[in-house]
This record gives sequence, C-alpha cells and structure tokens, in this order.
Amino acid sequence: MTHKIAVLAGDGIGPEVCEWAQRSLELIARGFNHEFEFSAALLGHAAIQASGEALPATTLNRCRAADAILLGAVGDPSYDNNPTATVRPEQGLLALRSALGLYCNLRPIRIFDELLHASSLKPECLQGADILFFRELTGGIYFGEHQQSADGQTASDLMVYTKAEVERIAHQAFKAAQRRQRKVHSVDKANVLAASRLWRATVNEVAQAYPQVEVIHQYVDNAAMQLIRQPKQFDVVLTGNMFCDILTDAASQITGSLGMLPSASIGDRWGMYEPIHGSAPDIAGRNIANPLATILSAAMLLEFSFDMKEESEVLIGSVEEVLQQGYRTADIASPDTAIEQILSTSEMGGKVLEVLESKLFQSVVI
Ligand code: NAD
Repeated sequence: MTHKIAVLAGDGIGPEVCEWAQRSLELIARGFNHEFEFSAALLGHAAIQASGEALPATTLNRCRAADAILLGAVGDPSYDNNPTATVRPEQGLLALRSALGLYCNLRPIRIFDELLHASSLKPECLQGADILFFRELTGGIYFGEHQQSADGQTASDLMVYTKAEVERIAHQAFKAAQRRQRKVHSVDKANVLAASRLWRATVNEVAQAYPQVEVIHQYVDNAAMQLIRQPKQFDVVLTGNMFCDILTDAASQITGSLGMLPSASIGDRWGMYEPIHGSAPDIAGRNIANPLATILSAAMLLEFSFDMKEESEVLIGSVEEVLQQGYRTADIASPDTAIEQILSTSEMGGKVLEVLESKLFQSVVI
C-alpha cells in the first residue's frame, strides 16, 4: 500500500527544516518496507510569488489527493509593514485548515531529559512529563459572533459549542489516551459557562465508550496552576479552542524551546503536521535553524495518520539519542555545550539520520 504525503515546505526556514523530516520519513520507509510517495507543493509567500495566491488550487488538490501533509512554515517579513496587502501568506494556511476540515489540534509537550536545563521550571518537577493536548480548533469563542456596540462602549464574543463538535474531538482524545496512560483531563469552566456544561456532559457520554480510560474534569484556572505545579499528573488534556490556546502557550515554556515543539492538525480524512514555530526570517538561509520540531512532526504523522506507532517511536528515539550524545543546535545549546557539539541544521538533520539508520539496519554480529 502506498501512503501519499504532500510536502508544503513554505517559506523562510520551512524548506531547510522540512528537508530533514522528509529524509527521516524516507529512511523509515526503507527500514520498515513501507512505500511513501512524496509530492511537493507551494504555500504561503512562495505560492504568492509563483501564482499570486497563498493557497493555489494545485496545492489544495495535491493535499486532497494525499493521505497526510507535512508542512514547514509560512510567512515573510515583506508583509509586516504592508497593511494594504490583500493576499498574505498566513491566509493560505488558514484556508487549508478550513478546506481540509482540520478540527483537532494536537500539541505534545514532552520533556527530553537532556533539555531540562532549557526550562525556567525546576527539573525535578518536569522530569518525565509527557502531555498530549487536544485543542478543538474550529469552534468555540473564536468562531462565535463578535460584536461591538456603535458607541464603542460594549463588546461581546459568543462562545458556542455543539454536541457534535465536542463529541468528535473527545473521541480523538479518548482513542489517544487508550494508546497512552489511559487518563484524560477534560478542562472547562462548567461552574460558570453553559457551553462548558454542555462540554462536560458530552465528554462524560463519550467516556462511556472507553471504560478503561480515567476521566478527570478540571476547571481551566485550576488546570493552569496544576500544569506549572505538577505537569507529570497529566497524560491527555482535552479542551476547547481558547482554553487550549492559552494553556499550550504556558505549557510550551515547560520545554524551553520553540524549535523542539511539533504539532498536528487532524480531521476525519486528513492530518497536517508542522512545527509550532514560524518561518523565522531572522535566521532563514543561514543553516542554523533547529530541524527537530519538524522531524518530531513527521513522527506524529507516522503515529496519527498511518497508525505506525513503532516507526514513530524509533524516530523520536533517534532524536533523543542525538540529544543524549550532547549535540545541540544553537537555540537549545547551554553555556556549557562544547562548541564542536553545536550543530547547523544540516549537521543536526544528518545526526538524526545517522542514528536512525543504525537503529533500522543494525547488522547482527555473530
Ligand atoms: P517564529 O516562530 O518564526 O520565530 C520566533 C523566534 O524563534 C525567532 O527568533 C526565530 O529565529 C526563533 N525560531 C523559530 N523557529 C526556530 C527554529 N526551528 N530553530 C531555531 N530558532 C527558531 O515567529 P515570528 O518571528 O513571530 O514569525 C515569523 C513569521 O512566521 C511571520 O510571518 C509569522 O506570521 C509566521 N508564522 C507562521 C507560523 C506557521 O507557519 N504555522 C506560525 C507562527 C508564525
């Protein structure tokens, strides 16, 4: 069976980091006898330059024809001081998420022991923390009606959730919990908000189908505090659009660096995998970007779109091993990192491939 992967490298450091994620997937395919077919397409500024559109029809069609999408990043500084630009790179990304119905955003927060120093929190609180956030991405207060009175004295934003919206993401979270530590924290504000009471009741209904998974309801204010106090108590966190937006930004700081954080946006048919960071124009073209977030996004692609957990773990294990060997890109280096262990993008990508290759093709010595 051929698995089709559309590769949208995008702008800035996107192509630099995507290359190593694609090469990791190619190696995984060889090692596990899978057939992955890659097809590249333009998105964002690169697409605007080529066709005038941030999401050309050819790109959308290529994504629709694929089983999963690997994305670098979009964005270019030429738009920053040009408020009159009617076509902007980020529009392409939003249009793509919406066209593919990607309602579920997954953000794993995993602490690599070797990078404990990179966080501002105490290492003993962080060690072993491994959280998977499920953020509802296409509903809630960000998509409800936004109003401002004519006199500018009153404004309101409507938080709306339908039962169906909560059900579909809750199923995703419970399914993932079954493959992990079998614990779901559902985060809401059910003591105050009607939308949260619907959320909680619906999560409880969905939970009936997963009796082996423990459900813990937590108010969002408490969850924010618990996340910093004792992140290890969490396995899967399931919550709405705005609550998760805020909680994951706080949680990302647990890991210390943007260059380490992968993400996935999934719907009923497609999954799109990308690092959390942007196109980083300040370092683009210098071969110094950290490719690990994109490589870890490729590992998520294997697990969530292709149900290849073992393959995913081998790739994550390879990243971990490279970090154990002491290698760092500049963004995750500490003052005591030896200069010869601070690697460029291509050197870091090459190290991951080297370790992955040795794991996949270990020769048996008799
Ligand atoms: P950014 O994430 O691109 O960069 C923020 C800082 O982190 C920069 O100093 C950058 O050098 C550093 N950084 C980011 N990724 C890194 C990596 N892999 N390795 C090492 N350092 C890294 O955010 P920004 O500067 O606010 O935005 C730049 C552009 O990216 C803008 O046009 C923005 O709209 C766009 N953007 C796109 C996405 C996306 O494609 N999903 C997300 C965020 C921002």
